[in-house]
Order: sequence, then structure tokens, then C-alpha cells
Amino acid sequence: MNLSFDNTQNAFAYKSTADLKKAKFLIGAIQSPFMVAVATKATPLLMKMGFPINGVLRNTVFKQFVGGETLEESARATKLLGSYGVQVILDYGVEAKEGESNFDDVTEHIIEAIDFAATQNNIPFVSVKLTGVASHILLEHLNDAPRLRSGIHDSESENAQWQRVRERMYAICDVAQEKGVGILLDAEETWIQDPIDRLAVELMTVYNKEKVIVYNTYQLYRNDRLSFLQLSHRIAKEQGFLLGAKLVRGAYMEKERARAQQMGYSSPIHADKDATDKDFDAAAKYCIENKETISLLLATHNEQSNLKIASEMESLSLPNDFNHIHFSQLYGMGDHITFNMANQGYNVSKYLPFGPISEVIPYLMRRAEENSSVNGQTNKELVMIKSELARRKGK
Ligand SMILES: Cc1cc2nc3c(=O)[nH]c(=O)nc-3n(C[C@H](O)[C@H](O)[C@H](O)COP(=O)(O)OP(=O)(O)OC[C@H]3O[C@@H](n4cnc5c(N)ncnc54)[C@H](O)[C@@H]3O)c2cc1C
Repeated sequence: MNLSFDNTQNAFAYKSTADLKKAKFLIGAIQSPFMVAVATKATPLLMKMGFPINGVLRNTVFKQFVGGETLEESARATKLLGSYGVQVILDYGVEAKEGESNFDDVTEHIIEAIDFAATQNNIPFVSVKLTGVASHILLEHLNDAPRLRSGIHDSESENAQWQRVRERMYAICDVAQEKGVGILLDAEETWIQDPIDRLAVELMTVYNKEKVIVYNTYQLYRNDRLSFLQLSHRIAKEQGFLLGAKLVRGAYMEKERARAQQMGYSSPIHADKDATDKDFDAAAKYCIENKETISLLLATHNEQSNLKIASEMESLSLPNDFNHIHFSQLYGMGDHITFNMANQGYNVSKYLPFGPISEVIPYLMRRAEENSSVNGQTNKELVMIKSELARRKGK
């Protein structure tokens, strides 16, 4: 197989040396739990107190990890990525706020993002977090509602709220289908995930008849998700729709474990990283084995997971740009994977958040916390950046 992630020249060709030095600093900083703890506490406080830190943030963290404050600004990053064969998943990156009018606003922003995606030739997907268009409290109640499985919930007002959530999602998916843009429904915490899964299946039965518009997300750090993926696929086959499956390991491990311990139920998360890796790779393999009826989006910075799937594609003689297999990494991370894969013609994208700086900061803080608490691939990334800087210096 020709694919390798070691070519730092390909990986960082899109970054100037000054930007690469900034990336080195920032990626180094998010590896330090101390730096992250200070930044996550201080930044919102300084912003609230009116300190003029937006300029500093805009030129550092924001520039590294966010497309821009508006769609027009994100168009620059989108075009740059496109010139290297990299696609984009657009994400309206503001964190959820309670209130029906906020949910309607977010719906509008998502629809605008879909309209914008349709005008660009490298934005095949827009991502949607259900907590952006639905109340967290409502989702928690629905998750626990004893009669939910039959589609009936006892509270009339919550039924009405849920009806409005469904209407928002149908409005989003109608536009997405008309414009041929995929919708990726993010996976969230286990205590609100059940209604998200149920809505995802409902939407897939409507929109995924001929091609895949709607994708659900499967968090393979959960010990029940490999079988849930297989169950979803069985339902898809029985009901005659195509399954859209975005696979991730999962972002809320510490929170999940802490809550389970505090409330005295058994943790839904695998006991160790090996078990997560095993299920992640098995899920990806399952999707490829069923590639005619499942469209896979492999969302990971893990080199081995990406290499395994690329090698599986080769052994099945699939073209690198096979339409039901797509790879993705977050903007500002995993460039050695994204750009080297794009160079070999794979369908690979960056997950690109956009939104007003003050509203996107919580998203960035969450990412930083996740990186500093979980021993992931950022160390390798730092090594790659240093090696590219050395290569440029030695030229
Ligand atoms: C494009 C994209 C979209 C994403 N969308 C979502 C989403 O919708 N929902 C969501 O929850 N996350 C999402 N994520 C984040 C994702 O779930 C991971 O947190 C992140 O990508 C790190 O995992 P990895 O596979 O990239 O890397 P790796 O470094 O291989 O894996 C790190 C991950 O492994 C798991 N892990 C680590 N230690 C242990 C342990 N001791 N026991 C069990 N498991 C362990 C955790 O999930 C941890 O995040 C997304 C990521 C990307 C790239």
C-alpha cells in the first residue's frame, strides 16, 4: 500500500512556517493538563470581564482550530483545503443554549450552512448536534421515559416540545436532501443518546432510501455500540433504507465514568483503551463488509485505524475514493493523516467549526480538555510538526 503518514512536507504544505510554529505551541499547550486547566478557567472569565482578548484568541487558538466567525470567513479555509484535495464537514460550533428561540436560531444557521455547502465543491457534509436544537432536559427526560419505546410520552408539553425538535430536524434534512448535502448527527452523552438514536433512525427511513443523507454517530468506547451498529443495520435492511454510520471512539469518557460511579450504575464505557480500539476496528470492518448498504465515515486521528481501513479497501480492490468510505479529522489536528490521505485520492475531510468567537470558545475548551485528559495521538502530531520545522530549516 502506498499510504503512509510520515510525509511531513505533504502534511503541512498548507501552513506557513510562522503558522506551523504557532501550531507547535498550541498543540504542545493542549497536552498539558495544567495549561488547559488555567486556560479553560481564565478565558471565559477574562471575556466576561470585558478584557480585549478576542484579538489574541482570533490569531491563535481560533485560527488553528476554527474556520472563521462567519460562513464567508470559513470559505477561505474551505478553499485552501480544497486546493489540496481535502473536503470539509461544516459545523456551526456554538455550544447549546436552552430556549425555543435559540433552537430556532441554530436551525436557521444550520440551514444556511447547508445552502453554503451546496455552493462549494468540497463540502459534502454539515454536522448537527441535537442539543443545539433540543432542550437537554427534554432529551434527558425522553431518554428515561418508560413509555418512550412505544413512541408515547406521558407529558403533553414535552410531547409538543419533541414535536418541534422533529420539525426542526425535518426542515434541516429537507434542505439537505434537496441540495445533496449529508447530515451528520453527533453522538452525545449516554443519558441523552437514546432519543437521538431514535430520531436518527426515523430520519434515515425517510431520507436514506436511494442515497445516504443522514448519518448517525456510533461511539465505540461504549460497550454496547458494536451490537447497536449491527442492530441498526438489520433495521435498515428490513425497512429498506441505507445506513449512514459515522464511527468515533467517543469524547465524554471521564464524564461518563464519573456519573456512573456517582450514581452507582455500571459504566457504559469499555474498561480500557484496547477494548475500545478492538470494537472501533471491528465496527469499521463490519461497515466495509456491508459497504453496499452502509456508508461509513471513519472519524479518527488514530493512524492504525485509518491504515487498517485503507488496507482493507486495497484487499477488496476498492478505489481509494470509493463513495461509501470517507475519513475525517478535526481542523487543526491530524494533518499528517488528512493531507497524506488526500494526496492518495481518498475521500478525506476536516471537521471545520465556525461561529462567533465568544460562542465557539466553549467548543475549543472542550476539545482542549479532552486532549489533555486522554492519552491520544497529539504527541505524535507534535513530533511531526517539529520534524517539518527542522526539514524547512535545513533546506
Ligand atoms: C471528525 C470527528 C467527529 C467527531 N464527532 C464526535 C461525536 O459526534 N461524538 C463524540 O463523542 N466524539 C466525537 N469525536 C471525538 C472522538 O470521539 C474522539 O474523542 C477523538 O477523535 C479521539 O479519538 P481518536 O480515535 O481520534 O484517537 P485515539 O487517540 O486512538 O483514541 C482516544 C480515545 O480512545 C478512548 N479511550 C482512551 N482511553 C481509554 C480507556 N482507558 N478506556 C476506554 N476508552 C479509552 C476515548 O474515546 C478517547 O477519546 C469526533 C472526532 C472527529 C475526528
